[in-house]
Amino acid sequence: MKHLVNNYPQNNLELGFSFNAFGAILSTLDEMYGVRGGRGLAMRAGRETFKYALKEFMPVLGIADLAFRPFPLGMKIKIGLEVFAETFNKFTDQIVRLEQDTTSHLWIIERCPVCWHRQSESPCCHLAVGLLQESLFWVSNGKNYRVSEVSCVAAGDDACVITINKKPI
Ligand SMILES: [Zn+2]
Repeated sequence: MKHLVNNYPQNNLELGFSFNAFGAILSTLDEMYGVRGGRGLAMRAGRETFKYALKEFMPVLGIADLAFRPFPLGMKIKIGLEVFAETFNKFTDQIVRLEQDTTSHLWIIERCPVCWHRQSESPCCHLAVGLLQESLFWVSNGKNYRVSEVSCVAAGDDACVITINKKPI
C-alpha cells in the first residue's frame, strides 16, 4: 500500500477505497506488530476514525446534538447505534444490522471490511470495536461500555458479531 503514503484517499462519499485495501492494511498490522500489538493499534485507529470521520457526519445525519438531548441514556445509545448502522449501510458496502438480548446490543456485520479476505484463529475486527467504543463514549457524554467481538467471518463464523453491554462500565 505504498501508493497511499502521503497520498490519502479523497475525503468524499465515493466508494473509492476498497475493502481489499482495508483488510490488507489491518492484516499487515497483525503481521508487523503481532496479534496483541496489532490489536491495540487497530482499536486506536477505530477510535480515531470516529473522531475524524463519523463526527463529520453527525450534522448531516441530524444527530449532532444527540449526546445533549434530554432522553434517557439507554434510548440515546439505541438511537445512536441505529443511526450508525444506517450510516454504514447507506454510505458504504458494509452491511450491519442490530439485534438485542436482555443485557446487550448486538452489532452484526454481515459484510465486514475489517476482516475482508482475512483468516484468523480468533475474532480480529478490533477497528470496528474501537470505533463503536468511541461512538458510545460520545453518545453517552463520556461513559465507557464493554464492547467485544464474539464471532468473526475471518474465524469461520457467518457474521462478525460485536456485543455491547447495555449498562456502562
Ligand atoms: Zn469482520
